[in-house]
Amino acid sequence: MSTITSRGTITIDVEACKGCELCITACPPQVLSMGTALNQAGFHSPLLHPGCTGCAACLFVCPDFCFEVFRFEQPMATAVPA
Ligand code: SF4
Ligand code: SF4
Repeated sequence: MSTITSRGTITIDVEACKGCELCITACPPQVLSMGTALNQAGFHSPLLHPGCTGCAACLFVCPDFCFEVFRFEQPMATAVPA
């Protein structure tokens, strides 16, 4: 096991997502990936993995205002398989 530190987290309004994937490439630590589930409009939406920095790049790039961003007061460690 190893650990990944997160300094923030996000919420994603999956029903507002149009699946453009701009957030995937905009995320500096690359902790977003497209999920396989479809929303009611038939679009895939992103999933968050451990390691968010709370930088808000996703919030600023998303044309559909899908994100809220929160910064932790203390970094949080997540155990992940090595
Ligand atoms: S806040 Fe920054 S690090 Fe976190 S998911 Fe959005 S772009 Fe990635
Ligand atoms: S940038 Fe916004 S609309 Fe585009 S895939 Fe990401 S969450 Fe969905």
